[in-house]
Amino acid sequence: MEQLKPIVETLAKGEVPASTSDVKVYEKSYTNVDQAHLLMVKVDSDKFILVTGSGQLFDDFQGENVNDSAKAVPLTHENRLVLNRYFDYTVPRAFGTKIATVGLGDRLGLASPGHIETIRKTKAKPVLAQQSIRELTLTNRSMEDMLDAAAFAVFQEGYTDGYGADGDHIKEESDIKKALSLGISMLTLDCSDQIPKGIDQKSEAEIEAEYNQIPEAERKRYEEKYLNKSFEVKGLPIDFDKRTLMTNVLQYHEAIQYMVHVYQTYMVTAGRDIDYEISIDETETITSPLAHFFVANELQAADVKVISLAPRFCGEFQKGIDYIGDIEQFEKELSEHALIAEHFGYKLSIHSGSDKFAVFPIIAKYTKGVLHVKTAGTNWLEAIRVIAGTNPDLYRRMHVFALENFDEALKYYHVTPDLDSIKPLDSVADEDLAEYMNNDAARQLFHVTYGLILTAKDEDGSTTFSDEFFKALDEHEEEYRAALVKHIGKHLELLEL
Ligand SMILES: [Zn+2]
Repeated sequence: MEQLKPIVETLAKGEVPASTSDVKVYEKSYTNVDQAHLLMVKVDSDKFILVTGSGQLFDDFQGENVNDSAKAVPLTHENRLVLNRYFDYTVPRAFGTKIATVGLGDRLGLASPGHIETIRKTKAKPVLAQQSIRELTLTNRSMEDMLDAAAFAVFQEGYTDGYGADGDHIKEESDIKKALSLGISMLTLDCSDQIPKGIDQKSEAEIEAEYNQIPEAERKRYEEKYLNKSFEVKGLPIDFDKRTLMTNVLQYHEAIQYMVHVYQTYMVTAGRDIDYEISIDETETITSPLAHFFVANELQAADVKVISLAPRFCGEFQKGIDYIGDIEQFEKELSEHALIAEHFGYKLSIHSGSDKFAVFPIIAKYTKGVLHVKTAGTNWLEAIRVIAGTNPDLYRRMHVFALENFDEALKYYHVTPDLDSIKPLDSVADEDLAEYMNNDAARQLFHVTYGLILTAKDEDGSTTFSDEFFKALDEHEEEYRAALVKHIGKHLELLEL
């Protein structure tokens, strides 16, 4: 605490102290409430909010006294809740359908400062907390950890323009309840468990037989509404014949019921605005524009207010690398999906949006700046790039481990890298290691093995990489911030945000 004394003396006068050799000061965090002054600092690798003065806020924070009128407040969950009570901008908020939003998943709890710096210069708003249950499980983090990290980052950066928190790819109602109770401002409902597999490979007779198992009243309702009917969506014709109707009913009937149920049970009763996103992207079936229309039309009929919807686009949106597929076909379908979203008044949502540089200009052209785009793993890959550039020994050990454990990681992710295209480690000089992050296969190798790397333990119970990795990233905090500003900045620029 000794090293904090000169800092708190200056702070108590309402001035922002400069960093010293022992204490890093985050100047942008400086703020004051009534009789208290607040400032985020870092000592060794621990961050604190220094609070000087007196009053209710001073008393509410739990921390160690530096002197009678100053305390060092650690970044705990309880202190985050205090922060939320006094500073509205640290509470996640919904953004609705008119503003572009960018999901900036932060698996490490360290990327948000760089994300905030990037997004400040744009017209988009950040969804800083965005982790799926899968990601949280694989990294041993809780939803509370994720929300705490985002709120403290916003405070550290003095970012008062508002941010969102997404309960990403949630499937189970128990997780929906939990995420809402913890304060998320966006819910991404993943309906893949309600979408049957392999419908499009079935014969006409098989489809008809399955279709006939749906209660007659339901079938009748669908048929009266859609069979041999034509719809027009902003000039785009959509026609249903018997086959397309039956296929889409089988594909989405149960999922639509679940979307409606979740909306009525949780969104309507939440008591606050929640950005409700529907995700039908994590399925085998590409969402045709007709299928998109069908789902949206049914949701509208049920009075479900959707803020964004994520179709599964044609081609492949693999994690952490550029688009794979026919770009002309993508442009045609994307333009139709965008018209449908515009017609129903919600934002098109682009999942696995990291690094899709080849199609960003197309997405920008047709969504006209009103969209949601999710990125996550690429932020972790930028951390790997920083490690490769600053700690070659650690990078090399992680690289070997990732190769050894790649098959295990494929249980959770669909990627198809050509591992033979990754240069052998012993042929690459230390100063060139960061180049691996420009190789698609190496990117995907690290993209999917993050959970295994971060949770690996040695025989004596100590972490194989995690402690060393976080320490290294902490020491190179500014490099990591700069890497994110550059990389995510390139995304936002091409998306014209
Ligand atoms: Zn998705």
